[in-house]
Amino acid sequence: MTELLPLAIGGTELSKPIIISGPCSAETRDQMLETARRLAATGVTIFRAGIWKPRTKPGGFEGVGEEGLPWLREVKALTGMRTATEVATRAHVEAALKADVDLLWIGARTTANPFAMDEIAAAIAAVNPDVPVLVKNPLNPDLELWIGALQRLYNAGLRRLGVIHRGFSTYGPTTYRNNPLWRIPLELRIRYPRLPIICDPSHIGGRRELIAPLSQQALDMGLDGLIIETHRDPDCAWSDAAQQVTPESLGVILDSLVYRSAPAPAETLAGLRRQIDRLDTELLEVLAKRMDVSREIGEYKRSQHIPVVQSARFGDILSSRVEAGRQLDMSENFIRSIFSAIHEESVRVQLTDTAIHGKSAN
Ligand code: PEP
Ligand code: MN
Repeated sequence: MTELLPLAIGGTELSKPIIISGPCSAETRDQMLETARRLAATGVTIFRAGIWKPRTKPGGFEGVGEEGLPWLREVKALTGMRTATEVATRAHVEAALKADVDLLWIGARTTANPFAMDEIAAAIAAVNPDVPVLVKNPLNPDLELWIGALQRLYNAGLRRLGVIHRGFSTYGPTTYRNNPLWRIPLELRIRYPRLPIICDPSHIGGRRELIAPLSQQALDMGLDGLIIETHRDPDCAWSDAAQQVTPESLGVILDSLVYRSAPAPAETLAGLRRQIDRLDTELLEVLAKRMDVSREIGEYKRSQHIPVVQSARFGDILSSRVEAGRQLDMSENFIRSIFSAIHEESVRVQLTDTAIHGKSAN
């Protein structure tokens, strides 16, 4: 994906941070127009509304369907806002583009389906390959599947692509409705630096209180925008009620966010990066020394016929390092993952050396 173009509507590039807001679902003409009018007053310029709603179970509100498309057109005429909706089939694409919807997004459940992605890609390319398309991450934390969906759009000739980070499904109760797993969008940023990433704190948090802190985290990580669900009367929304806010609350949230747009002073940043480079070199040297000691331990265990993995010892290492890490203000998760990786490598080194030794002894 070397020829990506910036997100733009009608030739005008979207300025950053890109803010998209509107109800989870289009419910009624009144609900759409009132929400849009109040949103426009906060300065939001792109209005979202789900016309077709993919629901986990049948029987819930599955969207008003095509009946809602003229309402989006009215929103545009009334407020001047641009409009966005989710498409999941060829018919959705054709109907949405015929109704002059300006931006399309692909829902999390659709991204994971290669046949659906090919069908949608061909349908958009046939009508208007210049339309911007945002691809939500799949429900499961699979970066390759996410990239695969983007490549299907790109291969069909679409260039104005971006993504929406909406968190990943987990089983059982958690703080978030969908775990943010920030390292996945950040890995995507490293692989495709020009691909805009928009954060969806509404679907990550699942609760309106989490929208502001998640939005700030996203901006602090340098993501390019936010898509936030708003409703004229959130508690009465027909879908995702707990995570929607009023347009006025959105205004307060947006005003509270700190945008880091200033370029970093080159000198300070270069100096800090040199410190990081030096510390990383020291870290690597210490790790290499630790592996040398592991090799020696491996030889000793082999000569004494002691098994390589001593689980009690690993348990002791983990708990003492977690405690030491806590004293140094480092999180338990971080220390656990680092020492688990070190232990795994140390076992590998001991086994490899044993295997090599065994071979030469034969
Ligand atoms: C939505 O944006 O309302 C939606 C259905 O999102 P997702 O595909 O992320 O679940
Ligand atoms: Mn929703």
